[in-house]
This record gives sequence, structure tokens and C-alpha cells, in this order.
Amino acid sequence: MTNPVVAVLGTGVMGAGMVQSLRRAEVPVRMWNRNGDKARALTGTGAQAFDSPAEAVAGADVVLTMLFDADAAIEVVRQAQAPAGTVWLQCSTVGVAGADRIAEVAEELGLVLVDCPVLGTRQPAEQGQLVMLASGPDEQREPLAPLLDAMGRRTVWAGEAGAGSRLKMACNAWLVSISVGTAQSVALARGLGVDPQLFLDAVDGGPMDTPYAKLKAGNMLAGEHPVSFGLTGATKDARLIRSALQLAGVPDLFDAAAVAVMERAIERLPDPGAVDLSALIEGFAPDGD
Ligand code: NAP
Repeated sequence: MTNPVVAVLGTGVMGAGMVQSLRRAEVPVRMWNRNGDKARALTGTGAQAFDSPAEAVAGADVVLTMLFDADAAIEVVRQAQAPAGTVWLQCSTVGVAGADRIAEVAEELGLVLVDCPVLGTRQPAEQGQLVMLASGPDEQREPLAPLLDAMGRRTVWAGEAGAGSRLKMACNAWLVSISVGTAQSVALARGLGVDPQLFLDAVDGGPMDTPYAKLKAGNMLAGEHPVSFGLTGATKDARLIRSALQLAGVPDLFDAAAVAVMERAIERLPDPGAVDLSALIEGFAPDGD
């Protein structure tokens, strides 16, 4: 597989950024998205947009899925009808049970599965600065390196297919902890009559400071939540983490509380599908507000 052709199925926030990064590295890209306008908006990069997954996949060496969840990834890959032996680079966040279901479908369809969720959000996807959590057959490491290097600043190979999705759960548990923790501190400062900016100033540059907390707190303080990682997708991930904890026999008390906060925010927001994860601060609004 020299100069592999990639079919990207799913050009939402992350898939669109990954197409841009692949094209910067001059990787030939064929793409499809359910809402075709999102794929057509990317043709200026030199990637080709198609009207169906099957058309996008025709002639591709690698099928990359970046879709909402395991159900969407499975449904779309079945529609794609890639020939047996094609590499399926599955990048959506699907959790442990989802990764296992995907492995079964890959086997049924004769596809070579590389399970590869990613760390990073809109901007790292656009800039080729993701961390690729790859897992799958060792012999795929070398041929996939140009693609993974185009999309990521680093690739962590975690083991057999499915290990990447397991590692992703541990990483996203951290992301959820930081996000919910940041929202709680901002809300608590406000509730106690202290300027929440002072909380950020207090931790600035010290061991408790993190760029991610600063990023999300910036949105929370501004009351503006442009989507980098959507609240509904992040809540889906928090639920996947809860299932992973239960599977692992690790108490899920902490993540269960995070899910409850996020669900409370979703109930209270007029259009939860259109806001960033940072809007979860609405879950800390006092009763009656
Ligand atoms: P997004 O912008 O909402 O994109 C979701 C994609 O899935 C869109 O292409 C959407 O199509 C498609 N889709 C949803 N349901 C579908 C279905 N039933 N059939 C076909 N297509 C379907 O979300 P995103 O942020 O790019 O996230 C994509 C994946 O990356 C998710 O698994 C997410 O957890 C993961 N992820 C996200 C981030 C982040 O910071 N955003 C970071 C790491 C991983 P339409 O456009 O037609 O709706």
C-alpha cells in the first residue's frame, strides 16, 4: 500500500479537520457525509465528495470512519461495501462494547480493523496535532504511518484492536473530570460572590493549571459555547465511560455524578445539540434559575 487512497466517512467537526490534515500531506481523499453539504464544503482541499458511502469507498485502500457512535459507524460501513481485505481505520469514539461489536462486524465483512480513536478537538484535528490511539495488526503500523502522521502529532500503539478504544475511555474520563471540575469551580466561585476569573488567576501557571481547563473556563466566563467538542457527544462519551467502569469492576460513582450534571445541563438548554461541552456549566445553575 504505497500512497494509499483514503475514504473518509463522516466529515463533522473532527472528520472535516482530519480531511484538511490528510490533504495538506497530499494524501488522496474521497469523502462522504450524511449531510452532503459538509463534505462538499471541503472540496477546496482537493478531496472528492461523493453521494454515498459506497461511491466514496470505491477504489480506496483505507476506509476511515469518524462518526457519532458505534451504531453510526457500523451502519455506514455496511453501506460502504468495501472489498474484503480493505483496512478499516475506525476513529469514532465507541467505547468498549462498541469496539467489540465493531470487531465482530469487521470480521464478518473481512475488513482489517485498526481501532484508532483520537485525542484532541477541532483545532488539533485541523492542524494535524491529534494523538492517535491506534490498535490492531502490527503489520499495519508501517503502511498507515503516513496517514497517522498527517493527522496526529503522535501515535500511541496500544495493542490488539480494541485496546485503543479502552485507552480512550481512560483518557476521556480525565477530560470529563477536568471539564466538570472546572464548571463546578466557576459556578462555586460565582455562587460565593467571588469573581470566577480569580479562580483561574489563582491556579495560573501552577501544578493545578491545565490548558484544557483554561479553554473551557474561557467559554464559561464569556457565556459563549462555540462547538469544539459538542455537549451531546461528550455526554455520550461520559455514558460510555460509565459502562466501561462497570465492565472493569471499578465503582462508577464519580462518572455517574458527571453524567447527571451533563444531563441536567441538556435538560435546561434550549438547543443542547448546538453547544460545546463547556455549556455543561448550566448543570450547576441553582434550582429555580
Ligand atoms: P459531529 O461534528 O457531530 O459529527 C458527527 C458525524 O457523525 C457527522 O458526520 C454526522 O453526520 C455523523 N452521523 C451521526 N449519526 C449518523 C448516522 N446515524 N448515520 C450517518 N452519519 C451519522 O461530531 P465530532 O465532534 O466530529 O465527533 C465525531 C466522533 O469523534 C465522535 O465519536 C466523537 O465522540 C469523537 N471525538 C470528538 C472530539 C471533539 O472534540 N469534537 C474529540 C475526540 C473524539 P451529519 O453531519 O449528517 O449529522
